[in-house]
Amino acid sequence: MITPNRTPWQPDEWQKLLREAFRQPQALLSHLDLPADPLTPDLQPDFAMLVPAPFAARMNPADPRDPLLRQVLPLQQERDEDLGFVADPLGETDAQLGFKRAPTLIQKYRGRVLMITTPGCAVNCRYCFRRHFPYQDHRPAGHGEALEVIAGDASISEVILSGGDPLLLGDAQLARLIDGICAIAHVRRIRLHSRLPIVLPQRVTQALLESLAASRCSVTIVVHCNHAQELDEDTARAFACLREVGVHLLNQTVLLHGVNDEADILCELSETLFKQGALPYYLHMPDPVTGTAHFMVSDAEAQPLYEAMRERLPGYLLPQLVREEPGEVSKTALAFNN
Ligand SMILES: *Cc1c(COP(=O)(O)O)cnc(C)c1O
Ligand code: SF4
Repeated sequence: MITPNRTPWQPDEWQKLLREAFRQPQALLSHLDLPADPLTPDLQPDFAMLVPAPFAARMNPADPRDPLLRQVLPLQQERDEDLGFVADPLGETDAQLGFKRAPTLIQKYRGRVLMITTPGCAVNCRYCFRRHFPYQDHRPAGHGEALEVIAGDASISEVILSGGDPLLLGDAQLARLIDGICAIAHVRRIRLHSRLPIVLPQRVTQALLESLAASRCSVTIVVHCNHAQELDEDTARAFACLREVGVHLLNQTVLLHGVNDEADILCELSETLFKQGALPYYLHMPDPVTGTAHFMVSDAEAQPLYEAMRERLPGYLLPQLVREEPGEVSKTALAFNN
């Protein structure tokens, strides 16, 4: 077993930072020296604001169009209901689609199951497709039933920990869950989808590294980063610690109008991720969720943008442009070069 180098952060630093996160739009705006005026923030949004300070620290002060601010500041615009935009575009909560194999276990694709670990996130992204997700329905049972289903189905080779954000679990809880999964012989891979290494890199504690290092299964963390400005020395440190214990780092990005819908921005993101030790994996078309119309990018806009990326990036830095569709056997690639 590898004994990881010490992380620069105290074990409970991230929890303290999370408790102290910005929860009031006005507090964040005054921190950034921004008047509320042109932005029309929603001061009492249904989906609360949540922004940890390390993420806010990477925003440019006094810039109402800052790409990080735009991802997290609730706007009154979100209240505009748009035709064709629904609360649950992926049908994840529709039992008739048969995806739910246990109270906390969803299966959509062959060989991979998705485990819902926590209801919350460390940041509330305004474009989130799970903003209306009824997490309370997935909560009470614990993971016993999910582990039984996985143990009884040898076709499952990968368990994906999702949420919310699985890294919001405490170190001991996560270690127990990983042990429980690794005890099932046919599971080869564990994958965590998390935005914490980006918005709160202090989450990469010594205890986390030790439990990942001890895992029998190979571990991949898919971080969720949308803009190179989200990456700083702390994310680089967190990535380096994770890579040192053998974690594979991938990134997924959501293509968001007004945040990253330019080839320059996305190429810079791929380059910076690579420099910090993560490879681009998916570039997701935004899902048509109620309250997120102002983030939408159409296929006609995405096409030239993606072609420009393909012309400029080596293949291994080009994420796959995909969309999530209900009832499909995999994510749907938007392949334009024919
Ligand atoms: C995206 C997703 C996965 C993982 O798909 P990959 O193509 O393997 O990254 C698994 N389950 C669900 C429900 C998903 O939405
Ligand atoms: S971290 Fe992911 S799941 Fe959580 S609010 Fe942001 S987009 Fe949604």
